Amino acid sequence: MDYFNRRALNEYGGKTKEVREYEWTHEHGSFEQDVPEKIVRSGAKFYTSSYKCPKCKKFMYKANVGEFVWIKTPDGMKPLKSTFGCFECCMLFSAIPGKMLSEGDYYTLKDKRDVMFMTTIISDYALYPPQ
Ligand SMILES: [Zn+2]
Repeated sequence: MDYFNRRALNEYGGKTKEVREYEWTHEHGSFEQDVPEKIVRSGAKFYTSSYKCPKCKKFMYKANVGEFVWIKTPDGMKPLKSTFGCFECCMLFSAIPGKMLSEGDYYTLKDKRDVMFMTTIISDYALYPPQ
């Protein structure tokens, strides 16, 4: 099955997951962006993004979550859509739905245990990246 046929469905046939265990915080800030030299995968679903980690400045990894994962935020339950992570600094970022991460309005998770838990959920429910 090619990417365009399966883009509408994750490996759970489009099932969604609501994660109420951990609350993400709503923050504002800017992210540096650049063109990565090469796209590298991290796990099955994460791949190099154009955004750099605000802490270590390395390229973050991105997973396309569609609307299959919903997270608990101060604004209520929200779909993750695209998620960006630095696994060295153990941080995850997600743009506010309807906005780009570059607009500087985002949800974040920074506790190592929470990030590891969420990364597992995201890896399960995200779409496969384009080949
Ligand atoms: Zn980092």
